[in-house]
Amino acid sequence: MAQTAKKGKTPPQKKVPERRCVGCAGTFEKRNLIRVVRSPEGEISIDFTGKKSGRGAYLCKNSACLKKARKSGILKRALECEISAEIYDELEKEIRLCEAEAAE
Ligand SMILES: [Zn+2]
Repeated sequence: MAQTAKKGKTPPQKKVPERRCVGCAGTFEKRNLIRVVRSPEGEISIDFTGKKSGRGAYLCKNSACLKKARKSGILKRALECEISAEIYDELEKEIRLCEAEAAE
């Protein structure tokens, strides 16, 4: 079997922005994280666009990690604001969806 080895220079890689997950403290590419943001008004929301202004915290798309973050209150500490159950539920839903997609 002839393999055409595509050798050569590796293209200059763009630096992928990485962020740290507040749950497991691992660093991930931004697209593998969910951003939770506290708006200047003090409202917590999930930022799917990554463009909302405010103080942000990142969670990796891992339900175990979310569970840990929820239990330890680390997200609350990171954002210095109470996180409502709805936000956690929404995060969980989102992460489940991502996990289901990844499993396919
Ligand atoms: Zn994590």
